[in-house]
Amino acid sequence: MNNQTELEKYVEYGVAGAPQIKADEKKHWLGEFRERVIFALTFEQINRKEALKIVEEKCKNQRVHKLILENSVLDTTSEKYMDVAKKYDKEYKTIDMNENREIALVLASNEAVNEKDVLIEKLPIFPEVFYHAKNRKLCKKHMQKLREEAPLFIEEFEEITLLDKMMGISCGVCEHIKK
Ligand SMILES: [Zn+2]
Repeated sequence: MNNQTELEKYVEYGVAGAPQIKADEKKHWLGEFRERVIFALTFEQINRKEALKIVEEKCKNQRVHKLILENSVLDTTSEKYMDVAKKYDKEYKTIDMNENREIALVLASNEAVNEKDVLIEKLPIFPEVFYHAKNRKLCKKHMQKLREEAPLFIEEFEEITLLDKMMGISCGVCEHIKK
């Protein structure tokens, strides 16, 4: 789908210099123009447990129209991303970049968004204790710790209420530490 007018195309090429440069750019960003890229993960990042969660958060952005994976991403990983794409109603596709394998995943818009930082050097860390918590309810202390150490994951958890306590529900992190 391409809604660009001739003028917009002209301006685009004017800025970039020549269509040839755009071709190299598209090779890098899994077939997308850099200006349409909202977020990207490298091969080194994509298998980290935090990566999926971050992509899911990014998919809540209405400007994200598609999720693109490089072909050599493992099936066990790509399945999870396919599910995320489906859940947030994004177009999903894979592309084979041959020798040019650096970027593993791209979230892109159908139009220019000119997002500044599409790659992050360090993924936010989801501390092990929270990752292993079976119960998604947390005591005040651990809720506070989560807020400080991994705010990106705050929506995954809830603070235990008085009613929970009366029903015998205890903090997932405290439980995990006890074991
Ligand atoms: Zn706790």
